[in-house]
Amino acid sequence: MSHEPTIFQKILDGEIPADVVLETEDCLAFRDVSPKAPVHVLVIPKKPLVNLADATDEDAALLGKCLRVCDAVAKQEGCGEAYRVVANTGVGAGQSVFHLHFHVMGGRDLGWPPG
Ligand code: 5GP
Repeated sequence: MSHEPTIFQKILDGEIPADVVLETEDCLAFRDVSPKAPVHVLVIPKKPLVNLADATDEDAALLGKCLRVCDAVAKQEGCGEAYRVVANTGVGAGQSVFHLHFHVMGGRDLGWPPG
């Protein structure tokens, strides 16, 4: 069964452009096309995991690397100590792109719980 590549896979493959802010061996970070905060960056693993529920213990180190990239992005973007990382997991949680991604948001007051 063939699956259409996700939009994030197309970004990884260079087929569509993205405003990349950081790249490591394992991860890519680029600005969200529809930002919900002054800083809104998506951090993705280059490995095509669907979401956190698709990850296994074998991916533990990779997930840690993604979170380290989230913090590096927040610092690079000037979020200071206050930023939020979100990984919507599943349609019911609002996931719309089925390649694991972490939203890094900051640059404004972030209420809790989110609306
Ligand atoms: P989700 O709803 O899956 O948690 O988040 C997907 C995010 O991807 C959304 O915030 C949406 O704005 C962003 N997005 C969708 N298509 C593109 C795209 O082509 N480029 C970029 N940079 N972001 C995208």
